[in-house]
Amino acid sequence: MTLDERIVQFQKMVETDPNNELGYFSLGNALFEAKRFTEAGPAFQRVLAMNPHYSRAFLMLGKTQVETGHKELAIETLKNGYLVAHKRGDLMPRNEMGEVLKSLGAAVPDPEAKAKAAATGGAGVDGFVCSRCGGGTKMAERPFKGPMGEKILANVCQGCWAEWIKMGTKVINELRLPMHDPQAQEMFDKHMKEFLTLPD
Ligand SMILES: [Zn+2]
Repeated sequence: MTLDERIVQFQKMVETDPNNELGYFSLGNALFEAKRFTEAGPAFQRVLAMNPHYSRAFLMLGKTQVETGHKELAIETLKNGYLVAHKRGDLMPRNEMGEVLKSLGAAVPDPEAKAKAAATGGAGVDGFVCSRCGGGTKMAERPFKGPMGEKILANVCQGCWAEWIKMGTKVINELRLPMHDPQAQEMFDKHMKEFLTLPD
């Protein structure tokens, strides 16, 4: 079977079963192989929308974003993917993401930073430790009302929250999430919790 035929086959697969994450991942890989990067990106985005723990999809999305010239986005994707892969023990994709980050001249995240900061008393004056970056400055007030707002105030620093605001807008635009749809809201929250590495 040629690459084009495989692409068509995977496209049919995800058309009949839009919740098939492996189908989307395979489609993305085939499109990447065919150097159809602008089409590969949304396929990997779709995988991550369904399953934000899919570390290989972070790796491939990052590589795709490098190819489409979105270096900053690629670094963000790979840093998040690196932490997800580390948490899950997916060593191969984790190390490969580390390599790509280095090749982009970006720092590889240190998953132990939070533990180290806590152990050496490196936390903020008020003992605040951001769940995402392990340091940071506590926000002055909760970013929005309700228990989720309280949780974010207690766990996320100003800088990481600002990063999520940027990222969240991209999530909505790239996935074309209809925010009046409760399911889309759920997916958005899932992304946010993953991005901010909020505890359950
Ligand atoms: Zn932070």
